[in-house]
Order: sequence, then C-alpha cells, then structure tokens
Amino acid sequence: MSLKVYINGRLVDREDAKVSVFDHGFLFGDGIFEGLRCYNGKIFRLKQHIDRLWDSAKTLDIQIPVSKEEMSAAMYQTLEANGFSDAYIRLIVTRGEGTLGLDAHLCKDPAIVIIVQKLSLYSADFYDQGIKIVTASTIRTPSDSVNPRVKSLNYLNNIMAKIEAYYAGCEEALMLNHKGDVAECSGDNIFIVKNGKLKTPPTDACILEGVTRNVVLEICEELGLECVEAAFTRHDVYTADECFLTGSAAELIPVVGVDGRVIGDGKPGPITKTILSAFGDFVKKDA
Ligand code: PMP
Repeated sequence: MSLKVYINGRLVDREDAKVSVFDHGFLFGDGIFEGLRCYNGKIFRLKQHIDRLWDSAKTLDIQIPVSKEEMSAAMYQTLEANGFSDAYIRLIVTRGEGTLGLDAHLCKDPAIVIIVQKLSLYSADFYDQGIKIVTASTIRTPSDSVNPRVKSLNYLNNIMAKIEAYYAGCEEALMLNHKGDVAECSGDNIFIVKNGKLKTPPTDACILEGVTRNVVLEICEELGLECVEAAFTRHDVYTADECFLTGSAAELIPVVGVDGRVIGDGKPGPITKTILSAFGDFVKKDA
C-alpha cells in the first residue's frame, strides 16, 4: 500500500502528493513546520507542538486556515489512513501559492501538508555509545533576524552547519550564537552535566525552544536533579562530565566527543542514562 499524505484536507498517494511550484514555501522557504512523534496511538505533547506552530505562524503573519482541533484531527486521520500507531509526523504549513515576487499578502491560501513515517534517526549503537559533534563556523541566526524560536521552513542556517558536521565526520553540528555562547545543534537542543548539575541554554540564547528539552526539564524536576537554563560557552562543554542532545526525532542522544575533546570518560554518563530511561517511562506514561 502506498503511503498516504495529507494535503489541504485530502489524503493522496505519495506519488500524487504534490504542491504548486508557485507556493512560497517552495520559492522562498516561506512557511512553518513541526516534527512530532506518535507513541502507542497518541501524539506526544500534541498541545505544545500545536501551540508552537501557532506561535510561529503569528510571528510570520501566516493565517492557518483551520482550528487547532481540526489540525490535531487531521494528524490522527493521516496516522489512521496509514495504519500507524508509532510514527514520526511532519506537519507543514506553507504561505501558499503566490507570484514570483516576495509579497506575502498575495498568497491567499496557506497549504497544509502532513507526512507520517516510521523513523529512527540514529542507529541503536549511537544511543549506547554516544555521538561525536563538531562546532560549526556558521552561527545561529540572531533573534533580531528570523528568531530561531520560529520553526520556519527556511532551515538553511542549520543545513549549512550540518554540512560542516558531515565534512568533519561528525553526526551533529554544535552552533554558537552571535555572542559566542552555545546555542544548540543543527536539529537538537543541548544539555551538559557538571558535578551532578545540568545546564541548558536559555530560550533567549537563539534556540528553538524544544518540546523534548522542556520534557527533560520536567523529568529533572521529578527526579530531583538540578537543571538550570543558563548561558555557557564551549569551554563548559569541553570540560563537562556529560553531554546529551534532545529532539522529537532523536529523542535523547548522548554526546561523547566535541571538537576532538573527549567528554567525561568517553561513554554516556550515569545522569544521561538515568534521564534517557526516565524519558522512555515518561513517553509510555504519557501515551
Ligand atoms: N533545535 C532545532 C534547530 C530543531 O530543529 C529541533 C527539532 N528538530 C530541536 C531543537 C528540538 O525540538 P523538539 O524537541 O521540539 O523536537
């Protein structure tokens, strides 16, 4: 059976899932998206993802043509059409069709696309042994440009960093902000652990405020682990006892090397493992 893709209220076969070349999402990366997970038939942290999508739309002045409830129902409908109870969901809203010019107000009908897929971003080995990352020379977009809190379809900033990681033989790229502080990775948020305490960059450090990041903050509170949202530099990463990344696709992945420096003893640390297992329980509980 061919994968069913949702486009503007219709479920079509993958081969027929097409949008116009005049869509400003295609022409300019003008649109927004979310990456969600469905575990055991329930979309994880649905409200948080939907709220973030609506916030992204607000800043970019995109009028989403359906209600939050209708959008949620459309995702469940797409999952059901594909018979998936565990899947990754890509929800996209583009500015819609317009002219070749930049004028967003000539685009009258934003397009909604939902793609569901079975996904495992990294192999099981990486979760057991950790990944190596490298600092990209491409800095994260400053907040007074397109704020990284907007999850826009224009991911060139992140893609440039990811290309650097590829040529460095690393799985991910660490991105700094214009102040030189650590921001996040190209597609994940970052946490470090030092002397039993966790730290993650604050939301004004030019990051996407990750849904998984916020779940980890909740888990830390539940487990009585101290975790602060505070600015830090690469020096803090190099000298950390542990480091891990979070994201809806990656979930929680240990980092054991940064720019050639070994983190801790070069293996995923005890706090990372505790949170990784708590995350698994959290997902089951929530599903
Ligand atoms: N930062 C960036 C740049 C991302 O693209 C993502 C999502 N892939 C994240 C962080 C993690 O966000 P979330 O936990 O909401 O998936």
